Amino acid sequence: MTRFNPRESILLEWLILLFRILKPLLEPRAFMSDFKKYHCLECEHIYDEAQGDPDSGIAPGTRWEDIPDDWECPICGAPKSFFKLME
Ligand SMILES: [Zn+2]
Repeated sequence: MTRFNPRESILLEWLILLFRILKPLLEPRAFMSDFKKYHCLECEHIYDEAQGDPDSGIAPGTRWEDIPDDWECPICGAPKSFFKLME
């Protein structure tokens, strides 16, 4: 009679798998790093997806592609097309 129960081993493997799935959710930093930044070619103003542009009604976390096409640079009024992705 062995003390090691195969059923417990399967349960443990499931718990490890579950932990791997949930781990990114427990690390907000890794989550946030997904946000991109764009800068205005006219005035170097930076649009940060994590920050949004609350003064123009753009909520923090808004993706660049979700910003309306008529949105303008809050500093110099340049159109959205004047912004370039920051590498
Ligand atoms: Zn600008």
